[in-house]
Amino acid sequence: GEVLLEVQRLKKYFPIRGGILQRTVGHVKAVDDVSFTLKKGETLGLVGESGCGKSTVGRTILRLNDKTEGQVLFQGTNIHELPRKELRKLRPRMQLVFQDPYSSLNPRMKIGEAIGEALIDHGIADRKEVRERVLEVLNICGLAPYHIDRFPHEFSGGQRQRIGIARALILDPDFIVADEPVSALDVSIQAQIINLLSDLQETKRLTYLFISHDLSVVEHLCTHVAVMYLGSMVEQASREELFRNPLHPYTKALLSAVPIPDPVMRRERIVLKGDIPSPANPPSGCKFHTRCPMAVDQCKSEVPKYREVAPGHHVACHLV
Ligand code: SF4
Ligand code: MG
Repeated sequence: GEVLLEVQRLKKYFPIRGGILQRTVGHVKAVDDVSFTLKKGETLGLVGESGCGKSTVGRTILRLNDKTEGQVLFQGTNIHELPRKELRKLRPRMQLVFQDPYSSLNPRMKIGEAIGEALIDHGIADRKEVRERVLEVLNICGLAPYHIDRFPHEFSGGQRQRIGIARALILDPDFIVADEPVSALDVSIQAQIINLLSDLQETKRLTYLFISHDLSVVEHLCTHVAVMYLGSMVEQASREELFRNPLHPYTKALLSAVPIPDPVMRRERIVLKGDIPSPANPPSGCKFHTRCPMAVDQCKSEVPKYREVAPGHHVACHLV
């Protein structure tokens, strides 16, 4: 298939300021050398514990914040080198769905206006056309037409996420970054939203970067999975390969927590010791060594290379 997105050695460091002069005294390496390629129609699940840099990857790809190093190519266009005006033209094609759409909705704005405002901002449609387009996306997202004149507080969590998706869809994007879109929802509602995203992918030929801390959520929607730890990619493979043959000890630990209905397939639970270290002061060598059950001496001093060990299967571990 056609490559839609190419992320090459992306880094995003946030300065830590200190002292009365607020000088830069260090950096939080939120994203520290992340690479992947997404083809049209694929869904990459980006997984890791909270604070590992997943959201920053999503935001930096969309250039909602600047990068520190590396490149983001969207259909060959270098997103971070693009003049503002050109970026604005490209915006409709790449959209973000938030974990909590409520926080991004103006409580005094009817949801019809909230969903339609981007069309007006981008000069895509006039008022009358906007209403028609909004009714269309409401329908696609499983919301009845009468909702158009209601306010955000009148909706349930699941409905709000449908509104968030409708808002992203109104501009007819090719690519959506969905940042923990179901994490705040009840399990039964999660399935509905996942099914909606999956249906939309087929009908609209969408490509997703699906960010989640939960591998069991990713399993149902994603064609590929990438695992992050402390700002870096530790493993990446097709979904089948990653679930069947996880190679990195961190991936194995995350997978061991995913419930499997078949008792024969059940894995032994691997409980990681300690908390995730601060990204402002990550461990030397392999950043996972302080929690890794397999760690050897080499892991403390040498950074493992992120390499392709089988076609499409990348991993960063000395023991693989
Ligand atoms: Fe564990 Fe060492 Fe592999 Fe890192 S390099 S994951 S510490 S075994
Ligand atoms: Mg996040």
